[in-house]
Amino acid sequence: MLDFSGGSQRGISILENWQEELKRTVTTLAALQTILQLNEAEEEAIAKCRDFPLKVTRFYLSLLEPGNGEDPLRKMVIPGKNEWIQVYDEMVDPTGDTASLKHDVLNERMIHKYPDRVLLLTNALCAGHCRFCFRKRVFSEQTAPLNGENLREIVAYIKHNTGIQEVILSGGDPLMMSDDALFDILDHLRRISSHLVIRIHSRMPAWLPHRLTPDFATLLKSMKPLWFVTHFNHPREISSEAITGLIRLSEAGIPLLNQSVLLAGINDSVRVQTGLCLSLIQNGIQPYYLHHLDRALGTSRFRLTVNEGIQIMKGLRGTVPGYSIPRYMLDMPDGSGKVPLEYPYLHYENEQTIVENLDGHRQQWRD
Ligand SMILES: *Cc1c(COP(=O)(O)O)cnc(C)c1O
Ligand code: SF4
Repeated sequence: MLDFSGGSQRGISILENWQEELKRTVTTLAALQTILQLNEAEEEAIAKCRDFPLKVTRFYLSLLEPGNGEDPLRKMVIPGKNEWIQVYDEMVDPTGDTASLKHDVLNERMIHKYPDRVLLLTNALCAGHCRFCFRKRVFSEQTAPLNGENLREIVAYIKHNTGIQEVILSGGDPLMMSDDALFDILDHLRRISSHLVIRIHSRMPAWLPHRLTPDFATLLKSMKPLWFVTHFNHPREISSEAITGLIRLSEAGIPLLNQSVLLAGINDSVRVQTGLCLSLIQNGIQPYYLHHLDRALGTSRFRLTVNEGIQIMKGLRGTVPGYSIPRYMLDMPDGSGKVPLEYPYLHYENEQTIVENLDGHRQQWRD
């Protein structure tokens, strides 16, 4: 069995009340230094990253391996090299959420890219800042949580566009809102139709799983059909506390999916991806998407080529159960949407259909 249990600093005490604990989130160099020993490069990067500052929960820090400067979890949250300069063709809005008029942007709070589903930016807050974030731009805007006027307009839009089958709550992180504020949004949506599918995207199970309280599970249970999508990038992020919280959601009948981002130096090996796939299915979470990194400003140190990603995906096929393999996705910068990337097992040569098997041997397939 693959074992990813590291020597984490489980000595850090976490308050049961998640809202109180969030007030203790680490946002300054001085506060971080009381918990972690930093090197000079990290200190310099923290000082320079004012546009997308250091932010990490104490719970997440408790998962880090003390003294390991190469810890993948550390690299996801501690600012680093090239974060404050633009390299290659990095951009502010790398998935074209605002760039293109091919889809409607309502008050810049709703993105309607695909005919059947809309995505709502519920707020512009996360419990921590992932250094590779693709939606960094929203954090520099003063965006209030969705409510009142915005919500009425969104409800009217969804009612008017009868092709919309699903509403995705994203952000920021919808779980930064209180249960009451979240109830208000969910209730507005549920009143549109009992069939409308609601999907919540959240990284809170990694940042502070204490957010997944029994009351929260009860709230989601009352709003079905509802799918919950976690964001774990490394098996060590799936803590025992996260499992406890997610079991509450499973027991409430909420299907769980996971999306992650393929990141150089973090999870760019078949070994780590295998560990992630297995840990997810062991805990009842279906791997959904593995995103190719978007070209957001300052994320060059996490970059891989599409081919490197494809080779990792190829390594998973036949190694882990088929249903534990996520789709590898590229989100196009022009706003035209996500495209699945696949290793080409199927070839057409001289009007023949050629199939490559898992050993790399090519055989002709006769239709
Ligand atoms: C990713 C995304 C969705 C959801 O796409 P799925 O393929 O259904 O997961 C919807 N709207 C926007 C704008 C997105 O970026
Ligand atoms: S949780 Fe998502 S939106 Fe929030 S900082 Fe991380 S990548 Fe960005």
